[in-house]
Amino acid sequence: DDVDPLVKEELLEKDRKYVWHHMSAHNENPMIIASGEGSWVTDIDGNRYLDGMSGLWCVNVGHGRREIAEAAADQMMKIAYATLVQSHIPAIELAAKLNEWLEGEYRIFFSNSGSDANEVAFKIARQYHHQNGKPSKHKFISRHRAYHGNSMGALGATGQAQRKLKYEPLGVGFQHVPPPYCYRCPFGQTKETCSLQCAQAIENAIVWEGADSVAGVILEPVITGGGMLVPHEGYLPAVRSICDKYDVLLIVDEVICGFGRSGKPFGHQNYGVRPDIVTMAKGLTSAYSPLSATAVSAELYDSFKEKEATSHFRHVNTFGGNPVSCKVALANLDIIEREGLVERSAEIGQAFRARLEPLNAHPHVGEIRIFGSAMGIELVEDQISKIPASVERVTHLILACKSKGLLVGKNGDTVPGYANILTLSPPLSSTEDDVNFIIETLLSVFSNEQEKG
Ligand code: PMP
Repeated sequence: DDVDPLVKEELLEKDRKYVWHHMSAHNENPMIIASGEGSWVTDIDGNRYLDGMSGLWCVNVGHGRREIAEAAADQMMKIAYATLVQSHIPAIELAAKLNEWLEGEYRIFFSNSGSDANEVAFKIARQYHHQNGKPSKHKFISRHRAYHGNSMGALGATGQAQRKLKYEPLGVGFQHVPPPYCYRCPFGQTKETCSLQCAQAIENAIVWEGADSVAGVILEPVITGGGMLVPHEGYLPAVRSICDKYDVLLIVDEVICGFGRSGKPFGHQNYGVRPDIVTMAKGLTSAYSPLSATAVSAELYDSFKEKEATSHFRHVNTFGGNPVSCKVALANLDIIEREGLVERSAEIGQAFRARLEPLNAHPHVGEIRIFGSAMGIELVEDQISKIPASVERVTHLILACKSKGLLVGKNGDTVPGYANILTLSPPLSSTEDDVNFIIETLLSVFSNEQEKG
């Protein structure tokens, strides 16, 4: 229902006075979201928008799921909090369920956010090497443009300069290598001449840093927030072999790619690799409640168990694995399984691929990259020079989508002058009508842009 204009003004006034918005100190006129249903959200003026980014790549099952709310309420009435220094039923059930999804044997450590999950991964990796007689193995290799979180270690792993400046020094020991960015290959190759120099760069970094000093490699299966960079299909398997060669752990950040977003349960399953550690958050609960997890391979965990006297993992997390959040995650995974949303995600991506094909001819579209149902449209000034589209052009497209009722995202602003990738990552539960709406809106907005020149 629409909100009275006076109430709205009062809310905005309080917002301006009291709320510090993410990514900005001053957001004078924020959109105030009031409710949501399926793939749609409604603001306090009653305007409806298709939530084309499912929040921040997270509301995988869509908004307004009563069964999740009921599961949370039910759990709150049983026991809302129990520590994981002990155990509780929802955590036990969820850890077992995640093992089914992971197709392998993993121990699950629960925490609260994607950043937390990555911090846990770094600490476990360092402790693993430490107690296996290799205490000097402490560094991590990650890629430029990758985002791994906002805490000092996770930001250290992040390869996006503009997020780090002003906050340094961050966690130390993180080295960055060029990403697998095929559209602008850092090694000047094309798809035809590619010899996976981007994977070789990881091996070089390990050798040049000294393999005795490297604990792990952290990567997303596809760099999402840093530009939707889909690698060559041989990249992840090559990185897996490099890690094996140098006793370096492979940590796969599935915070965005997990839980069906990629068209498989987890992103790495598209490439047939088995990570040593998998980190997850967002789609784990479809953002209905904060929860994250770090899955550690059974082999790695066993080495902790064998060294009983010294192997405590010294990391306490008051809210991590909260029973309500675990119950919410179970209800969320149940919906994804029951409604076949992993398969649905792949279908959404196929519809994008097929029906947005004509956009490839648009002068300002450099490349369309799709992974499962996540899509990045790299915008350029022209297809030959590949100069990134101007901020004005990108902003105009985003606002044009919004005026037609479609919320899209933008990224790539990891490097000054590059804020030129439109992103879409709608709920996996999006209906045929929702998907048609997204496609038709994009086609119409791009066609108007072409007329405008
Ligand atoms: N890893 C990746 C790949 C992410 O995209 C994010 C968040 N966008 C994080 C980690 C950090 O997650 P959180 O915001 O929950 O700390």
